[in-house]
Amino acid sequence: MLSEEKQRLSWERNIELHSLLKQIKPNIGHAFVEKIISMQKNNFLITQNIDGLHQKSGVPKNKIIEIHGSAIEAACLECEAKQNILDFHSAIKSKSPLPKCAVCDGVVKVATISFGQPMNEMDMMHASKIVEDSDLMIVMGSSLKVLPAGKLPNLAMQSGSKLIIFNRDETRYDSSADIVINDELQNICSRLMQGL
Ligand SMILES: [Zn+2]
Repeated sequence: MLSEEKQRLSWERNIELHSLLKQIKPNIGHAFVEKIISMQKNNFLITQNIDGLHQKSGVPKNKIIEIHGSAIEAACLECEAKQNILDFHSAIKSKSPLPKCAVCDGVVKVATISFGQPMNEMDMMHASKIVEDSDLMIVMGSSLKVLPAGKLPNLAMQSGSKLIIFNRDETRYDSSADIVINDELQNICSRLMQGL
């Protein structure tokens, strides 16, 4: 990530992704999550998604923990300070030098967690705390194979929480969950939305 050429390539891909994301609308799954989160003040969303569609569907930012980061934000690799992503897009488009971190002058990249890069510790601690304090965890559309998110249901059960899993395919937690529905999320969420 330290070579200027690779940084530029990464920003160019991010610009393409942004124009794609602008055209995508949240689906019934996002609407269902938004409904659940808005029902009680202690409901939170822990997501592996990086596309910002939950925010677009109306979930407040302080209710979301994005454990794989966000493709719609920029952050410093050194001090993790968030930066305005549009500044980097315009530098690429006008072929100007890339701005540095406004706080520490470090290299700034898209705020996603790249393969091989460690998770943000604060986010993971926050996610674990929420799971430990919860009395119900609903897992939606996750194979639960990717760690450390894949460990969270275990933590929930150890803390006495009920576990519900909505996923197309079976997961390794199905036998210990309280409720499991194996179907497309779209089908599950459309049916459940009728009862909310
Ligand atoms: Zn910095």
